[in-house]
Amino acid sequence: MHDDNKRFSTRCIHAGQEPDPSTGAIMTPVYQTSTFVQQSPGVIIEDYDYARSANPTRKALERNLASLEGGRHGFNFASGLAAQAACIHLLSSGDHVVLSDDVYGGTYRQFDKVFRQFGITYTRADLTDLKSAEEAFKSNTKMVWLETPTNPLLKVIDIAAVARLAKSKGALTIVDNTFATPVLTNPLALGADVVSHSCTKYIGGHSDVIGGALICTDDALADRLRFTQNAVGAIAAPWDSFLLLRSTKTLHVRVQRHCENAAKIADFLAEQKQIERVVYPGRTDHPQHEIAKKQMTGGFGGMITAYFKGGLEPARTFLERVKLFSLAESLGGVESLIEHPAIMTHASVDKHLREQIGLTDGLVRFSVGIEDVEDLISDIQEALG
Ligand SMILES: *Cc1c(COP(=O)(O)O)cnc(C)c1O
Repeated sequence: MHDDNKRFSTRCIHAGQEPDPSTGAIMTPVYQTSTFVQQSPGVIIEDYDYARSANPTRKALERNLASLEGGRHGFNFASGLAAQAACIHLLSSGDHVVLSDDVYGGTYRQFDKVFRQFGITYTRADLTDLKSAEEAFKSNTKMVWLETPTNPLLKVIDIAAVARLAKSKGALTIVDNTFATPVLTNPLALGADVVSHSCTKYIGGHSDVIGGALICTDDALADRLRFTQNAVGAIAAPWDSFLLLRSTKTLHVRVQRHCENAAKIADFLAEQKQIERVVYPGRTDHPQHEIAKKQMTGGFGGMITAYFKGGLEPARTFLERVKLFSLAESLGGVESLIEHPAIMTHASVDKHLREQIGLTDGLVRFSVGIEDVEDLISDIQEALG
């Protein structure tokens, strides 16, 4: 179905998918093939010549995600970081990037340890503050890279304002929409040029696939991304594409429940004497709550950050005691996860940089799942007890 004027939940289930033309199978099959037979040299069906360039299972997923983000073109990759790397290939040696100061650890590592070697430099900036954002631009700035809500501090960045600023400076705006998901935020509609996803998280939603995606609307930009996807080659596999297509069918209902559960747990945590501060964009005490209300539609996400009084030791004890929340990296699955960013996901960020932005040792990150919220609250209560 290429009909993009349907509402979001309908597009989750149908966009990009038609009954299989050869059998009528309602689910897009796993086209586990490396090549396609040509009728005559160069005479191919659609654009299927070799499965790195195009594969029908992957293409259905790419169309589905493009529709969910309100874009025209989607590209799926083997991981979120592979998607990001393909996007950064839009740049050349000598270009400069304004990078949000609170990004996924692997994103920071990719800019700092991989692309810097090729002469692509970056400046980190607090993009919740437009003045500090503007100061980070240089004459050779070609790209602004941000996530919102950020990981793990859950700062909310005004995408429209940053995209306007970037445009005035001739730079592209790339938004990693992994945390908000297309259910809650569509960055392209707010002026972003490319949306990046780790499909490993909410889009996959079942902690069983590593995957990534890029979505854009501009045709010229899409041509360059398609070229890199094929030329560098970190494509999504057919089987993973199939699993992700199955996942997007329930994305809207899953995210809705993640949001409901997280809102209740954030309020519960805020009342506990062991907790110094809770960060959740849906709470009125969140510093960017007004922007979150304007930018996020239908909820504030499933992620919560809490600072434990007394730092590392009480946080560690709590993390050892929880039972229903599993202590693990990653997020966005139906099951609740919990982790310690300073030791786990963000260990690749230098300690002084972590402390500069408030990513301290007492900080615990919750990825609230879709279990019964009363059971989750009891688990937290017992672990705090
Ligand atoms: C996990 C994650 C990534 C990286 O994705 P992978 O699929 O693990 O490669 C990028 N950005 C954010 C916000 C993430 O949470």
